[in-house]
Amino acid sequence: MFTSLSDRLTGTFKNLRGKGRLSESDVNKTVRDIRMALIDADVSLPVVKQFTSAVRERATGAEVSQALNPAQQVIKIVNEELVEILGGNTRTITYAKRPPTVIMLAGLQGSGKTTFAGKLGARLKEEGHTPLLVAADLQRPNAVTQLEVVGQRAGVSVFAPERGNTGGHDAVSGTGEGTRSFGDPVGVSRAGIQEALSRQHDVVIVDTAGRLAVDADLMQQASDIRAAIEPDEVLFVIDAMIGQAAVETAQAFQEGVDFTGVVLSKLDGDARGGAALSVAGTTGRPIMFASTGEQVKDIEVFHPDRMASRILD
Ligand code: GDP
Repeated sequence: MFTSLSDRLTGTFKNLRGKGRLSESDVNKTVRDIRMALIDADVSLPVVKQFTSAVRERATGAEVSQALNPAQQVIKIVNEELVEILGGNTRTITYAKRPPTVIMLAGLQGSGKTTFAGKLGARLKEEGHTPLLVAADLQRPNAVTQLEVVGQRAGVSVFAPERGNTGGHDAVSGTGEGTRSFGDPVGVSRAGIQEALSRQHDVVIVDTAGRLAVDADLMQQASDIRAAIEPDEVLFVIDAMIGQAAVETAQAFQEGVDFTGVVLSKLDGDARGGAALSVAGTTGRPIMFASTGEQVKDIEVFHPDRMASRILD
């Protein structure tokens, strides 16, 4: 992740080494190189523009430091702008004053929501919380079972719809379209929160349905769940490998569920990293967690400053 972007930028900065002062053409060339490196890393164009114009303005401005040579100065500016675009300070979950804290997960099918639900549950449990996972993805026949398996692996309780409501499993799995719901996700989400109240779970993690592409009906469903359960956090889970489609997807989810934070999943893959910068830059929402594998332990709090340093390493 980010290796090629990192290599490209290091090459760019090498060219500046040994220069006494940065001329206008040095700055122009550097900004052009950064622009190309970002585009090649799949960062969306508006974000590239926003980023490079901020760097250009600061690099040509009077930010002269006695302590740093021109190359170091540009690296410092690029680093600070990367941190800024990635969300600034590290952001973690905001807990409700009165439990349970409700965390809703949203995102495309296959983005890694269910896997992440287990990871987050396990992590919160380790921190002393008593989380409950709620299976409100009633779109995919296997999703409820999958969450139950994930919960078991993570050692976290799962609230699933009554067996009677899931009677449609077989009927739905046979259609091949997978778009028919076999229960009421809003009702299940509400019931999950009631369950948490009565069994004293202090955090509820609601797994919702996704689709392979943004879909109006499912967005409405996610939006209805959000309105009904008023979550303290809505985390948008996005596959880091999604590339240029990141912006469109993120914008649709921002409109639909107004998420409060982003989870970047599959960061262990060979994603070029553009999605991270694009999603954060376009929506202004912080990346809060990184998902880095299929195991329960593969979850990290996302630190914008550390990620920026990794990019510029
Ligand atoms: P959902 O449809 O959004 O609930 O997605 P899932 O949680 O079912 O994940 C889809 C696939 O991606 C599964 O095969 C997961 O094992 C895999 N997966 C999820 N998160 C990660 C991750 O961080 N890294 C890798 N390598 N695979 C992941």
